[in-house]
Amino acid sequence: MVYPYKSPKDETVGEIRARQLAKIKDYIEFAYHNTPYYRDLFDKNNIKPRDISSFDDFRRIPITTKDDLRKQNSGFFGAPEEEWIDMSCTSGTTGESVYIPFTRNDMKRIAVWGAQTLRLSGINETDRIHLAMPMCAWMWMAGFGFYICFSTAGVCVLRFGPGFSGKSLEIIKNLSATAIIGVPSYLVKLGEMRERMQIETSIKRVFTIGENILNKDLTKNALGKKLEELWKTEVFSCYGATEGTFLGVECDRFCGHHINPDEVYVEILDPDTLEPVKDGEEGLVTITPIGARGLTLLRYVNGDMSFIIPGRCPCGRMLQRVGPVFARIDQMMKVKGVMIYPDAIKNIIAGTGKIDLFQMEAYTENFSNLVRIYVPSYADEETDRKSAIDIRERIRLELGVTLEVKSISREILQGMIFPPGKGKPVTFVDKRSKQ
Ligand SMILES: [Zn+2]
Repeated sequence: MVYPYKSPKDETVGEIRARQLAKIKDYIEFAYHNTPYYRDLFDKNNIKPRDISSFDDFRRIPITTKDDLRKQNSGFFGAPEEEWIDMSCTSGTTGESVYIPFTRNDMKRIAVWGAQTLRLSGINETDRIHLAMPMCAWMWMAGFGFYICFSTAGVCVLRFGPGFSGKSLEIIKNLSATAIIGVPSYLVKLGEMRERMQIETSIKRVFTIGENILNKDLTKNALGKKLEELWKTEVFSCYGATEGTFLGVECDRFCGHHINPDEVYVEILDPDTLEPVKDGEEGLVTITPIGARGLTLLRYVNGDMSFIIPGRCPCGRMLQRVGPVFARIDQMMKVKGVMIYPDAIKNIIAGTGKIDLFQMEAYTENFSNLVRIYVPSYADEETDRKSAIDIRERIRLELGVTLEVKSISREILQGMIFPPGKGKPVTFVDKRSKQ
């Protein structure tokens, strides 16, 4: 039996933090003695593992960035090759892929802890989940990771993958699936098809990963609301990152992603000073996957911007909760003097309820950053023109900046958004020149 959490509702913050600190200290020792990267880093900064005896000391360890990981990938491998039983790689959305080996213990750790976390949603042995994610394509972790977590939680997994929507709906109906997990934009497509074909299903829970479905106040954003409407049920946001091999899931009170403190320590850092911010304040998500050995990481900044939700969750658990990923630090940009980020634009476009496809392109012209938004063309020019003006106005009113909106053929746009080899739809392309 792997669930639920040990005394989940009775522990105090102090008790959790003390246990966490002890585990972090062991993990630092491990990183120092087993990975070339951290041995060098500690030596260069004159830090000895035994010097770290508090969370304040822990902050003396310099952060690790995606660039560090790309440049010295094997320097982070903490376990000998003969202990690896699986390898995964990141999709390399913003650069080269990073390779992640997993030991048997890493896998067990992900399975058990993922199962515990997913059970917070209320899912259990009586459920069957339709996995609308690729299981092994391109060595991605997500589909396989969820497979081991759900199956360890006792849930029967229907490994269908994304695409072939008609067949997908047939399986969901014939095998009475009670839950589904996938990338939100695909689940919208599938939900619309279900509605058009008037197929009755028994779906009680929808899980999403890869795209944000929450506003900063933790209510559902336009994409999240659309999913609730289409599937007529509760929609749970999951948050994870392959490099950190961690998972956060909303419980049935929908108050942020619960993070297991025995497995991950999350800090939120000010993007300018890299100092920790207070709970509730926004900053860079920084993770330490306590215990991960295949790929050993300390204070890893994955580029996501979010915040920690202070206090106890209404469900009673005193676990760290992380809010929505409302931006990626590498995608933030100043356009005409206004700081904007693609997810905000994405949310506004989704809010129109009319545009189901779009791509944003950031580029530099005469030393200024600009953004162009591509939307699908309708049959006639007049409709296209009105739709473009409507989107431009909504963005201007909400963000205070006017952006170019361009209609192009639906087929071309579809090819731009779903290029081969990408796990998630590409809704943002960065062509800005690097200063
Ligand atoms: Zn909760």
